[in-house]
Amino acid sequence: MMQEKNIVVIPGDGIGPEVTSAALTILHAAAGRTGMKCNCATHLAGGAAIDVHGIPLPPETVAAARAADAVLLGAVGGPKWDSVAPEIRPEKAILGLRKELGLFANLRPVKVTAAMSDYSPLKPERVSGVDILILRELTGGIYFGKRCESEMIDGVEHAWDTEQYSVPEVERIVRMAFQAAAGRRGKVTSVDKANVLASSRLWRRTAGKIAPEYPAIQLENMYVDNCAMQLVMAPKALDVVVTGNLFGDILTDEAAVITGSIGMLPSASLGSGTGLYEPIHGSAPDIAGKQIANPLGTILSVAMMFRHSLANEAAAVLIEKAVEKVLAAGYRTGDMMQDGLTRCSTNEMAEKVLAELQ
Ligand code: NAD
Repeated sequence: MMQEKNIVVIPGDGIGPEVTSAALTILHAAAGRTGMKCNCATHLAGGAAIDVHGIPLPPETVAAARAADAVLLGAVGGPKWDSVAPEIRPEKAILGLRKELGLFANLRPVKVTAAMSDYSPLKPERVSGVDILILRELTGGIYFGKRCESEMIDGVEHAWDTEQYSVPEVERIVRMAFQAAAGRRGKVTSVDKANVLASSRLWRRTAGKIAPEYPAIQLENMYVDNCAMQLVMAPKALDVVVTGNLFGDILTDEAAVITGSIGMLPSASLGSGTGLYEPIHGSAPDIAGKQIANPLGTILSVAMMFRHSLANEAAAVLIEKAVEKVLAAGYRTGDMMQDGLTRCSTNEMAEKVLAELQ
């Protein structure tokens, strides 16, 4: 019997509707080729929801997302909503979804194939073959700790934030990292600042206690400053990287930059509820509606969805291989165009990927 899955699709704003529409053709084709049927229902969030409901995350979107097997999101935000009240800004939709769905881990694969290595600010021989999976803790740490905006101490103004982690918070994401490493090259790099921070020493102790549960996986502890250097000096040595919210925020952007293309990178947010899949780029209002956006970040997010939420590794691999072939054949959207390559629109790029799925 054909397996059926229910997907909530949130196109969002700017280029969101274009890239999700392109990615949906790939989603249905890859599902069909692997004996799965995906029922997709479109819902509003971000600026599009503000226009209709006056709020960025309507309760019906949350309810549908909770009940679904996975959520695919384009991007939210744009200048049209720059002047709305802070509490209803479009970006609140993503924070709200993370909270409502209990998403505590953000997964960002950073992969550079030979065809892509020319786009990196690093030397091609240094980045060609890079394949890193970064897991960033999403709901704890200094972004959610106690803070004080202004406090007078001895007549001098101070402000402070606090970094706090509990053992269960670290355990669940470190376990996720070990499980991911089992399907990859078998190495976890846990990143902290244990030489200075108490919260990092708890992080490192906890990672060390989990490690014996996974004897086939190597655990390496690394200070965050060293990891920032290793990402540009020897990125091929990294396999799975797991870290807290603040360090992860910075390292994931650094890692994205070494691939040289914001439009190509997918992400997944996972936790206790439905998984959320989205490209790492924003709504790119400057190019919206022109059919020139790169849909590959969203298409590769669909591959992650098959892998992590729909238990369909075959479909994930099918999509990833098709994207590699299309890039190797020289097809590019405008953001990655170079002499001698073939320019594609958003939909044409999806058609090329579709042709390689056959
Ligand atoms: P952005 O990622 O939207 O755009 C940065 C630059 O990259 C732009 O020049 C854009 O044209 C280009 N770009 C981005 N994605 C592309 C793609 N797929 N193909 C080709 N080019 C692409 O970042 P920004 O300009 O800082 O933000 C624009 C809006 O998006 C803001 O309202 C911001 O708040 C929002 N935003 C949303 C998310 C999200 O929904 N997760 C993330 C980041 C920013």
